[in-house]
Amino acid sequence: MPVSKGWRETCSTIAVMNQIVATSAPFLVFTDLDGSLMEHESYSIEAAKPALTELARRGVTPIFASSKTAVEILAVQRASGLTAPFICENGAAVYDSSGQILTEFGLPRTRWLDAVHQLRERLSLRFTGFSDWPAVKIAGLTGLSEGDAGNAQRREFTEPMLWQDTQANFQLFKSEIQKLSLTTLEGGRFISIQSQFDKGEAMKWWQARQNPPLPFLIALGDSPNDLSLLAAADVAVVIKSGKSDQLDPQGPATIIRTSLPGPAGWNDGIRQILNLLDSQQLLIN
Ligand SMILES: [Mg+2]
Repeated sequence: MPVSKGWRETCSTIAVMNQIVATSAPFLVFTDLDGSLMEHESYSIEAAKPALTELARRGVTPIFASSKTAVEILAVQRASGLTAPFICENGAAVYDSSGQILTEFGLPRTRWLDAVHQLRERLSLRFTGFSDWPAVKIAGLTGLSEGDAGNAQRREFTEPMLWQDTQANFQLFKSEIQKLSLTTLEGGRFISIQSQFDKGEAMKWWQARQNPPLPFLIALGDSPNDLSLLAAADVAVVIKSGKSDQLDPQGPATIIRTSLPGPAGWNDGIRQILNLLDSQQLLIN
Protein backbone atom coordinates (compact mmCIF):
# COMPACT_ATOMS: atom_id res chain seq x y z
CA MET A 1 0.00 0.00 0.00
CA PRO A 2 1.43 3.42 -0.92
CA VAL A 3 2.61 5.50 1.97
CA SER A 4 1.49 9.12 2.10
CA LYS A 5 4.34 10.72 3.98
CA GLY A 6 4.37 14.21 5.37
CA TRP A 7 0.65 14.48 5.52
CA ARG A 8 -0.54 14.70 9.07
CA GLU A 9 -3.92 16.08 9.90
CA THR A 10 -5.53 16.51 13.27
CA CYS A 11 -8.98 16.68 14.81
CA SER A 12 -11.68 16.49 12.19
CA THR A 13 -9.53 17.78 9.37
CA ILE A 14 -9.03 15.17 6.74
CA ALA A 15 -6.20 14.48 4.36
CA VAL A 16 -6.98 15.03 0.71
CA MET A 17 -4.73 13.23 -1.73
CA ASN A 18 -4.94 11.48 -5.02
CA GLN A 19 -6.53 8.32 -3.73
CA ILE A 20 -9.75 6.66 -4.65
CA VAL A 21 -12.91 8.02 -3.11
CA ALA A 22 -14.65 5.37 -1.06
CA THR A 23 -18.36 5.56 -1.60
CA SER A 24 -19.77 2.61 0.25
CA ALA A 25 -19.12 -0.57 2.17
CA PRO A 26 -17.57 -3.08 2.16
CA PHE A 27 -15.16 -1.90 4.76
CA LEU A 28 -13.74 -3.53 7.83
CA VAL A 29 -13.43 -1.89 11.23
CA PHE A 30 -10.64 -3.12 13.52
CA THR A 31 -10.58 -1.73 17.00
CA ASP A 32 -8.58 -1.78 20.18
CA LEU A 33 -10.67 -2.32 23.31
CA ASP A 34 -9.21 -0.81 26.52
CA GLY A 35 -9.16 2.98 26.24
CA SER A 36 -10.69 2.85 22.75
CA LEU A 37 -14.05 1.08 22.40
CA MET A 38 -14.06 0.52 26.17
CA GLU A 39 -13.55 3.07 28.93
CA HIS A 40 -10.06 2.73 30.36
CA GLU A 41 -11.35 2.49 33.94
CA SER A 42 -14.93 1.17 33.84
CA TYR A 43 -14.71 -0.93 30.64
CA SER A 44 -18.09 0.47 29.56
CA ILE A 45 -18.83 0.75 25.83
CA GLU A 46 -22.03 2.72 26.40
CA ALA A 47 -20.83 5.98 24.84
CA ALA A 48 -20.04 4.15 21.56
CA LYS A 49 -23.56 2.73 21.20
CA PRO A 50 -24.84 5.24 18.59
CA ALA A 51 -21.90 4.49 16.26
CA LEU A 52 -22.18 0.75 16.88
CA THR A 53 -25.88 0.87 16.01
CA GLU A 54 -25.16 2.76 12.80
CA LEU A 55 -22.41 0.31 11.84
CA ALA A 56 -24.80 -2.59 12.54
CA ARG A 57 -27.37 -0.97 10.27
CA ARG A 58 -24.73 -1.05 7.53
CA GLY A 59 -23.91 -4.68 8.26
CA VAL A 60 -20.53 -4.00 9.86
CA THR A 61 -19.45 -5.59 13.14
CA PRO A 62 -16.16 -4.28 14.57
CA ILE A 63 -13.32 -6.78 14.76
CA PHE A 64 -11.65 -6.55 18.15
CA ALA A 65 -7.84 -6.29 18.14
CA SER A 66 -6.74 -6.25 21.74
CA SER A 67 -4.00 -7.22 24.15
CA LYS A 68 -6.67 -9.19 25.99
CA THR A 69 -6.68 -13.00 25.93
CA ALA A 70 -9.03 -15.00 23.72
CA VAL A 71 -11.17 -15.97 26.73
CA GLU A 72 -11.47 -12.34 27.79
CA ILE A 73 -12.45 -11.19 24.30
CA LEU A 74 -15.04 -13.95 23.96
CA ALA A 75 -16.55 -12.74 27.25
CA VAL A 76 -16.62 -9.12 25.99
CA GLN A 77 -18.26 -10.32 22.77
CA ARG A 78 -20.91 -12.23 24.69
CA ALA A 79 -21.65 -9.26 26.94
CA SER A 80 -21.82 -6.75 24.07
CA GLY A 81 -23.47 -8.96 21.46
CA LEU A 82 -20.67 -8.00 19.05
CA THR A 83 -19.73 -11.40 17.69
CA ALA A 84 -17.08 -11.33 14.99
CA PRO A 85 -13.60 -12.69 14.28
CA PHE A 86 -10.99 -11.20 16.58
CA ILE A 87 -7.30 -10.64 17.20
CA CYS A 88 -6.04 -11.38 20.73
CA GLU A 89 -2.89 -10.79 22.77
CA ASN A 90 -1.56 -7.90 20.66
CA GLY A 91 -1.83 -9.82 17.39
CA ALA A 92 -0.55 -13.19 18.59
CA ALA A 93 -3.50 -15.09 17.16
CA VAL A 94 -6.63 -14.67 15.06
CA TYR A 95 -9.90 -16.37 15.94
CA ASP A 96 -13.08 -16.74 13.89
CA SER A 97 -16.51 -15.62 15.08
CA SER A 98 -17.23 -19.02 16.63
CA GLY A 99 -14.11 -18.80 18.80
CA GLN A 100 -11.98 -21.25 16.79
CA ILE A 101 -8.34 -20.33 16.38
CA LEU A 102 -7.47 -19.65 12.72
CA THR A 103 -3.80 -18.85 12.94
CA GLU A 104 -1.13 -17.86 15.41
CA PHE A 105 1.86 -15.60 14.99
CA GLY A 106 3.31 -15.76 18.49
CA LEU A 107 5.80 -18.04 20.21
CA PRO A 108 3.94 -19.78 23.06
CA ARG A 109 5.02 -18.20 26.32
CA THR A 110 5.49 -21.60 27.97
CA ARG A 111 8.57 -21.83 25.73
CA TRP A 112 10.23 -18.63 26.96
CA LEU A 113 8.78 -17.44 30.25
CA ASP A 114 11.21 -19.42 32.43
CA ALA A 115 14.14 -18.03 30.45
CA VAL A 116 12.88 -14.47 31.03
CA HIS A 117 12.58 -15.12 34.75
CA GLN A 118 16.09 -16.57 34.84
CA LEU A 119 17.35 -13.48 33.07
CA ARG A 120 15.62 -11.28 35.65
CA GLU A 121 17.34 -13.17 38.43
CA ARG A 122 20.76 -13.26 36.77
CA LEU A 123 20.78 -9.49 36.10
CA SER A 124 18.88 -8.58 39.31
CA LEU A 125 16.27 -6.69 37.28
CA ARG A 126 13.21 -5.26 38.94
CA PHE A 127 9.95 -5.96 37.14
CA THR A 128 6.91 -8.08 37.87
CA GLY A 129 4.16 -9.35 35.62
CA PHE A 130 1.01 -11.39 35.28
CA SER A 131 2.78 -14.69 35.95
CA ASP A 132 4.04 -13.33 39.31
CA TRP A 133 0.73 -11.93 40.50
CA PRO A 134 -2.36 -13.55 41.99
CA ALA A 135 -5.68 -12.69 40.32
CA VAL A 136 -6.53 -10.33 43.18
CA LYS A 137 -3.44 -8.22 42.44
CA ILE A 138 -4.33 -8.04 38.72
CA ALA A 139 -7.88 -7.09 39.70
CA GLY A 140 -6.48 -4.26 41.83
CA LEU A 141 -4.25 -2.99 39.02
CA THR A 142 -6.83 -3.17 36.26
CA GLY A 143 -10.21 -2.65 37.90
CA LEU A 144 -11.34 -6.03 36.57
CA SER A 145 -13.37 -8.37 38.77
CA GLU A 146 -11.36 -11.24 40.21
CA GLY A 147 -13.09 -13.64 37.81
CA ASP A 148 -12.23 -11.46 34.82
CA ALA A 149 -8.67 -11.09 36.13
CA GLY A 150 -8.49 -14.90 36.11
CA ASN A 151 -9.41 -14.82 32.41
CA ALA A 152 -6.72 -12.19 31.85
CA GLN A 153 -4.18 -14.60 33.33
CA ARG A 154 -4.98 -17.25 30.76
CA ARG A 155 -2.30 -15.97 28.44
CA GLU A 156 -0.68 -18.05 25.75
CA PHE A 157 1.69 -15.65 24.00
CA THR A 158 2.32 -12.53 26.08
CA GLU A 159 3.49 -11.52 29.55
CA PRO A 160 2.21 -8.07 30.58
CA MET A 161 4.46 -6.52 33.20
CA LEU A 162 5.29 -3.35 35.10
CA TRP A 163 8.86 -2.15 34.79
CA GLN A 164 10.21 -1.08 38.19
CA ASP A 165 13.84 -0.53 37.24
CA THR A 166 15.86 2.14 35.43
CA GLN A 167 15.50 3.01 31.75
CA ALA A 168 19.12 1.96 31.22
CA ASN A 169 18.30 -1.48 32.59
CA PHE A 170 15.21 -1.59 30.40
CA GLN A 171 17.43 -1.15 27.34
CA LEU A 172 19.70 -3.90 28.67
CA PHE A 173 16.68 -6.15 29.22
CA LYS A 174 15.44 -5.50 25.69
CA SER A 175 18.76 -6.38 24.15
CA GLU A 176 18.98 -9.57 26.24
CA ILE A 177 15.50 -10.79 25.33
CA GLN A 178 16.23 -10.16 21.68
CA LYS A 179 18.55 -13.16 21.94
CA LEU A 180 15.46 -15.17 22.89
CA SER A 181 13.61 -13.80 19.81
CA LEU A 182 11.51 -11.64 22.13
CA THR A 183 10.62 -7.98 22.27
CA THR A 184 8.48 -5.56 24.28
CA LEU A 185 5.41 -3.60 23.29
CA GLU A 186 3.75 -0.85 25.31
CA GLY A 187 0.01 -0.92 25.91
CA GLY A 188 -2.24 1.39 27.89
CA ARG A 189 -1.41 -0.12 31.31
CA PHE A 190 1.37 -2.63 30.89
CA ILE A 191 4.42 -3.45 28.83
CA SER A 192 4.03 -6.77 27.02
CA ILE A 193 6.90 -9.25 26.71
CA GLN A 194 6.28 -11.28 23.56
CA SER A 195 7.78 -12.51 20.32
CA GLN A 196 7.71 -10.45 17.11
CA PHE A 197 4.12 -9.91 16.05
CA ASP A 198 1.66 -7.08 16.12
CA LYS A 199 -1.97 -6.18 15.59
CA GLY A 200 -1.30 -4.70 12.15
CA GLU A 201 0.17 -7.90 10.78
CA ALA A 202 -2.82 -9.87 12.06
CA MET A 203 -5.22 -7.37 10.50
CA LYS A 204 -3.51 -7.64 7.10
CA TRP A 205 -3.64 -11.44 7.37
CA TRP A 206 -7.37 -11.25 7.93
CA GLN A 207 -7.90 -8.72 5.16
CA ALA A 208 -6.07 -10.89 2.62
CA ARG A 209 -8.61 -13.64 3.22
CA GLN A 210 -11.65 -11.51 2.43
CA ASN A 211 -13.84 -11.68 -0.60
CA PRO A 212 -13.88 -9.15 -2.24
CA PRO A 213 -10.18 -9.30 -1.48
CA LEU A 214 -9.42 -5.69 -0.60
CA PRO A 215 -12.16 -3.97 1.34
CA PHE A 216 -10.76 -0.85 2.90
CA LEU A 217 -9.68 -0.85 6.49
CA ILE A 218 -10.66 1.44 9.33
CA ALA A 219 -8.64 1.06 12.54
CA LEU A 220 -9.09 2.66 15.95
CA GLY A 221 -6.58 2.66 18.82
CA ASP A 222 -5.13 4.75 21.64
CA SER A 223 -1.72 3.33 22.62
CA PRO A 224 1.68 2.37 21.17
CA ASN A 225 0.59 -1.27 20.79
CA ASP A 226 -2.01 0.01 18.30
CA LEU A 227 0.45 1.84 16.08
CA SER A 228 0.95 -1.09 13.67
CA LEU A 229 -2.83 -1.44 13.36
CA LEU A 230 -3.33 2.27 12.69
CA ALA A 231 -0.42 2.42 10.24
CA ALA A 232 -1.69 -0.54 8.17
CA ALA A 233 -5.21 0.89 7.82
CA ASP A 234 -6.65 3.14 5.12
CA VAL A 235 -8.40 5.26 7.74
CA ALA A 236 -6.90 5.58 11.21
CA VAL A 237 -8.69 6.94 14.24
CA VAL A 238 -6.29 7.88 17.03
CA ILE A 239 -8.36 7.90 20.19
CA LYS A 240 -7.30 10.51 22.74
CA SER A 241 -5.32 9.04 25.65
CA GLY A 242 -2.32 9.79 27.82
CA LYS A 243 -0.19 8.14 25.13
CA SER A 244 -2.00 9.13 21.93
CA ASP A 245 0.32 12.06 21.23
CA GLN A 246 3.11 9.53 20.71
CA LEU A 247 1.20 7.93 17.85
CA ASP A 248 2.09 9.10 14.37
CA PRO A 249 0.88 6.40 11.98
CA GLN A 250 2.58 6.65 8.59
CA GLY A 251 0.45 5.26 5.81
CA PRO A 252 -3.27 5.96 6.17
CA ALA A 253 -4.73 8.42 3.66
CA THR A 254 -7.06 9.66 6.34
CA ILE A 255 -6.20 10.17 10.01
CA ILE A 256 -8.69 11.41 12.55
CA ARG A 257 -7.59 12.40 16.05
CA THR A 258 -10.43 12.48 18.51
CA SER A 259 -10.70 15.14 21.17
CA LEU A 260 -12.44 12.75 23.56
CA PRO A 261 -10.98 9.56 25.07
CA GLY A 262 -12.48 6.06 25.08
CA PRO A 263 -15.87 5.14 23.64
CA ALA A 264 -17.01 8.77 23.35
CA GLY A 265 -14.01 9.41 21.08
CA TRP A 266 -14.68 6.12 19.29
CA ASN A 267 -18.25 7.19 18.66
CA ASP A 268 -17.13 10.52 17.30
CA GLY A 269 -14.42 9.01 15.09
CA ILE A 270 -16.82 6.54 13.45
CA ARG A 271 -19.44 9.25 13.01
CA GLN A 272 -16.91 11.43 11.19
CA ILE A 273 -15.88 8.57 8.94
CA LEU A 274 -19.44 7.67 8.04
CA ASN A 275 -20.23 11.31 7.26
CA LEU A 276 -17.22 11.47 4.95
CA LEU A 277 -18.21 8.20 3.35
CA ASP A 278 -21.78 9.34 2.78
CA SER A 279 -20.68 12.65 1.29
CA GLN A 280 -18.13 10.83 -0.89
CA GLN A 281 -15.21 12.65 0.72
CA LEU A 282 -13.48 9.62 2.17
CA LEU A 283 -10.26 8.97 0.35
CA ILE A 284 -8.44 5.69 0.57
CA ASN A 285 -5.05 4.57 -0.62
MG1 LIG B 1 -5.84 0.61 24.40
